[in-house]
Amino acid sequence: MAILDCAIIGGGPAGLTAGLYTTRGGLANVVMFEKGMPGGQITNSSEIENYPGVTGDISGMDLMMPWPEQCKKFGLVHEMIAITKVTKDGDLFTIHKENGDTSQAHSVIIGTGSSPRRAGFDGEKEFIGKGISTCATCDGFFYKGKEVVVIGGGDTALEEALYLAKICSKVYLVHRRDKFRSAPNTVKRVQETQNIEIILNSKPKEVYGDNMGVTGIKIIDNNDIIRDIKVPGVFTFVGNDVNNQTLIQDDGSFLCDVDEAGSVVVDLSMKTSVDGLYAVGDMRIQSPKQVVSAAGDGAVAALQAIHYVDKKLN
Ligand code: FAD
Ligand code: NAP
Repeated sequence: MAILDCAIIGGGPAGLTAGLYTTRGGLANVVMFEKGMPGGQITNSSEIENYPGVTGDISGMDLMMPWPEQCKKFGLVHEMIAITKVTKDGDLFTIHKENGDTSQAHSVIIGTGSSPRRAGFDGEKEFIGKGISTCATCDGFFYKGKEVVVIGGGDTALEEALYLAKICSKVYLVHRRDKFRSAPNTVKRVQETQNIEIILNSKPKEVYGDNMGVTGIKIIDNNDIIRDIKVPGVFTFVGNDVNNQTLIQDDGSFLCDVDEAGSVVVDLSMKTSVDGLYAVGDMRIQSPKQVVSAAGDGAVAALQAIHYVDKKLN
């Protein structure tokens, strides 16, 4: 099989933009390996209002829908498969696939993003998918007209609490500190929403239920006072972990430098510590974790990859 000019791992905003710029910029043989449908984690968002030029009331899914089509037009190939590992032998990268196959590439742009973190309370593991959810767009409708609890104090928790407040009769927003991490404008909207009750300085202790699913949650405050809230649904939005597993080598080391949180160390050109390997979007150090910055990273890395491959082959 022909050696790829560039292998892109991950088809979120970062990977898709890298795909657009590499193909449109002249690299002939580019494959984007994405384990699911392209679009990335923003497709779980009910509303996006900070992508430049987008003024309407649109969901993350609406925003991302045209991106793969645009890339395809310039020759980007999407292979729907999970990548298990990326290695480098000499000056060629090997992309190891879930089914045991491999592909070789001159350059790699990795943008595998991040995944929802577990909050770590009793019953979380047992009831995930049975009343505990990390996606309001996906599961909010199941709780139409009912009360739900949202855990977290960042942008995701507050935005999704606002979304759920439109569907559910009441939303309890539980945050472990007395200050939210979210944008001030979002905090204001939450405070002004009648059917959101804000519960500060409190964290989940236990989610309980029966074989039909969740029936309630016990939360505990800073004075160890426990409050029992009877709800059929609990949404946790407590941050994300970097998806860096494909960079782990057989001896447990990382293919390139990562920081203590596992984010990939890059320079302003998205170059990692390994020649020909670029990291983009949420998984790189100091990422603002925004669609617009992920897309920007993808463009920057693609232009660097084009230059790198050109220099290598010509
Ligand atoms: P991701 O979007 O995470 O995409 C990574 C892709 O890689 C995924 O499609 C995944 O399937 C794929 N992948 C992972 N591992 C593998 C593997 N081993 N093999 C193959 N494929 C793999 N940002 C904003 O700017 N505005 C907002 O309003 C906003 N709202 C948000 C709301 C929610 C609920 C969430 C969760 C995030 C929100 N964000 C928002 C943040 C934004 O979604 C991210 O910053 C952005 O999606 C990051 O893009 P990415 O391409 O780096 O990674
Ligand atoms: P985040 O900013 O990391 O916030 C996570 C929240 O969960 C924090 O409030 C944290 O509390 C709380 N938390 C963490 N662990 C917990 C636990 N075990 N139990 C209870 N609470 C816990 O994550 P996020 O909200 O998902 O946002 C991720 C990134 O995406 C951010 O950079 C965010 O700005 C971005 N994003 C942007 C938008 C937007 O621009 N509109 C929308 C969504 C997300 P503490 O505050 O005490 O740490």
